[in-house]
Amino acid sequence: MIWYPYEQMKTMAPPIKVTDAKGVYLYTENGRMIDSVSSWWSVIHGYHHPVLDDAIRAQLDHFAHVMLGGLTHEPVLKLSEKLEKWLPGDLDYCFFSDSGSVAVEVALKMALQYSTNQGSHRDQILALRHAYHGDTFKAMEVGDDEDYHFAFGEKRNVFHIDTDLQSLEHAFEEHGNRLNCFIVEPLLQGAGGMRMYDISFLKRARELCSQHHVLLIFDEVATGFGRTGNRFVADLVQPDILCLGKALTGGYLGHAVTVANKMVYEGFYSDDPTHALMHGPTFMGNALACSVALASIDLFEKEHYMDKIQRIAEITAREMKDFADPRIREVRMMGGCVCIEVYDPGTLRGFKEFAGSRGVFARPFLNYMYAMVPYIITEQELVQILDTMKEWFRRG
Ligand SMILES: *Cc1c(COP(=O)(O)O)cnc(C)c1O
Repeated sequence: MIWYPYEQMKTMAPPIKVTDAKGVYLYTENGRMIDSVSSWWSVIHGYHHPVLDDAIRAQLDHFAHVMLGGLTHEPVLKLSEKLEKWLPGDLDYCFFSDSGSVAVEVALKMALQYSTNQGSHRDQILALRHAYHGDTFKAMEVGDDEDYHFAFGEKRNVFHIDTDLQSLEHAFEEHGNRLNCFIVEPLLQGAGGMRMYDISFLKRARELCSQHHVLLIFDEVATGFGRTGNRFVADLVQPDILCLGKALTGGYLGHAVTVANKMVYEGFYSDDPTHALMHGPTFMGNALACSVALASIDLFEKEHYMDKIQRIAEITAREMKDFADPRIREVRMMGGCVCIEVYDPGTLRGFKEFAGSRGVFARPFLNYMYAMVPYIITEQELVQILDTMKEWFRRG
C-alpha cells in the first residue's frame, strides 16, 4: 500500500498511472499528456533523454554506489570540480546529500556550528514569510507556510519577515547582533505560492548580512538551473551558503548539494576534531546521481539552456499579455515560471481534470495555477499549456 504525499488518503482522487515518459510527455493508458510541472520542477531536459540515460548506463558498468565515508570516486570528484568552476565566486565547497530538505538541514547546521566553532553562540534565524524550505523538522521551522506544516507547533529562534526593504532594515536593527543566518528562496518563492520579489531586496540583504556578520543562505533547490531566468540567483548576489537540488540531476535521481564559500569552510578547518561537520547521509555523492548531474550540466551549457529559458519567458509573456479575469488576483511570470493566483481556491476545482482532457498534466494547489515546464518544450507545446490555463477561465 502506497501512502501518497500531501494527500488525505481517504478522499484523494486516484493517481494517474504513467507507463512511459519521453520528452515533455507522460504516457498513460489513456494517451499522453504534457507535463506542465516537470515532476516537481526537476525534469528540465524532459524524460528519457538519451544523453542522460547513457551517462547512467556508462557508470553502471563500473558501480552504482560507494559511500563517501573513507572512500571517494571519479563522478563525485568531477562533479565537485565542475560546481567549483561553474558556481560564482568562492562557492567552492560541496557537501552532497540525497534531497533538498537535507541540503537545507546541512546549510543550517553549517551556519549554526560556524558560530559555535568561533566561540560565539548566535542561534537566531531570519527567514521569509511564505517560505518553503522542505519537510524535515528544521527546514519546516524556517519555512512559513501553514498549509504545509500546520500540524507542528511553535517555531523557536526563527523570525519571518516580508520581502520589502523596510521589514528587512527593521529586522537587522532589532535583531542584527543576535542573528546567525538569513535563509531565503531568492527572487521566487515556490511552494509558498510562486511569489516573486525584487533583486534590490537581496542586494540590501547581502550588505546587511556582511555588516552584521550574519550568514546569507540561498535555498536555490527550486530556483537553481535557470528557473528564474538567471542561471542561479547567486550569479547576481552571492550568498555564503547555497543549496541546490531538484534539477541538479535533471530530475533523474534524488540528489542535492550544499555549497559553502571559503569563509564558512575555514570556520570548520582546524586541528580540533570537534570543529568538524558531523553529518553524512548514506547515499551522499551517489555515483549514478553524480554522473547524471554532470551530463545534465553539460547539456545545460552546450545546448544553451539560458536561451531556451529566455524563449519560454518571451512566449509566456506574449501569450499572457492582457489576460485578465475578475476571479484572478494576479498573473505572475519570471523566467521559466508562470503563475495565476485566484481569489478563491474553489475557482481551480476541477482544473486538473479539465487540463487532463486537453492533454496537459497540471497540479494546481491552493490559490495557484502554474506552469514550470521542461526547458526543451516546443513553442506549440507551451502554447497548448497556456491556452489550457486561459481556456479554464474563458469557459466560465
Ligand atoms: C522542493 C524544495 C525543497 C525540498 O527538496 P526535497 O528534495 O523535496 O527534500 C527545499 N527547498 C525548496 C525551495 C524547494 O522548492
